[in-house]
Amino acid sequence: MHSDEFFMERCIQLAKLGMGEVAPNPLVGALIVHKGEIIGEGYHEKYGFAHAEVNAINSIKDPSLLKESTIYVSLEPCVHYGKTPPCVLLLTKIKRVVIGSLDTFSKVNGKGIQILREKGVEVKVGVLEEACRALNKHFFTFNESHRPYILLKWAQSMDGFIDKDAKQYWVSAPETQTIVHKLRSEYQGVLVGRKTVQSDNPTLTVRAYRGKNPIRIVIDSELRLKQESLIFNDEAPTVILNTQKQNHTDNLSWIKLEKVTSSTIIDAIYKLGIQSIIIEGGRKTLQSFIDAKLWDEALVIQGEECLVSGTKAPTLNTQATEEIDFFGDQILTYYNV
Ligand SMILES: [Zn+2]
Repeated sequence: MHSDEFFMERCIQLAKLGMGEVAPNPLVGALIVHKGEIIGEGYHEKYGFAHAEVNAINSIKDPSLLKESTIYVSLEPCVHYGKTPPCVLLLTKIKRVVIGSLDTFSKVNGKGIQILREKGVEVKVGVLEEACRALNKHFFTFNESHRPYILLKWAQSMDGFIDKDAKQYWVSAPETQTIVHKLRSEYQGVLVGRKTVQSDNPTLTVRAYRGKNPIRIVIDSELRLKQESLIFNDEAPTVILNTQKQNHTDNLSWIKLEKVTSSTIIDAIYKLGIQSIIIEGGRKTLQSFIDAKLWDEALVIQGEECLVSGTKAPTLNTQATEEIDFFGDQILTYYNV
């Protein structure tokens, strides 16, 4: 017989298949086991569509087995009528429910479990809880800390420079480019400062991977950016944070802030309902978030070359928790703990 952890691991794998498609909902995977055998699987595939539990239940051939089965679900089942009816009602037909993490989002938090127990369902909570929470780090940070989950990302040379003669340093391996584009597809927003737009003219879209483009957010306090910048093209929505103008057109919004600081920026992004952002530069922007301790994770891609001079990479004052050699580059991951 496999353990509860074994089946929960599979739920996490399933949940991840919804990455980039379900926000602002959480990623959820579900699995139905009858006498040690998996008889149904499902995950939350797309925002507004059926929840993981519903998909798992619908995938089984013989519904009469449900009353003798266990359902594993990575997140506490919902209790409210949203775009779909509450899953908890469906689960009362099942013998045993194993839950990864509680849904701390105020409408659910513990209520799902309470209802199930009242209906005589056997409930176990907290199986691979840490991994289940990490799966929805964006969702939990947004709902618990009232700000988006913040990933800092930059590329640097072996000797720690991020540009040379005002030209951004970029590592050579196309495989590394794919990683960056995959990340963009998994985050709801991507933020850069004005200087990055002026020097690199990025599009900040997802090209070397499949998936949705993030909302592009640019800090341009005095509205100095030219409308020809690629950031203003219609490939993705763009938000300009500034001190001059508040306006909204189809794909373009200007949000006026009294003062532009790392905390007013994050607050504005939170109010837009954006649960996760990647901050892609430049140094001044990145360092201001580091200094304000407004970051969760940093991904630093280090190439093989030395630039000798240029702009120094931001300083994190913490050790990398993960170092991966990747097609000649090094990928370093840091967490703000
Ligand atoms: Zn549900």
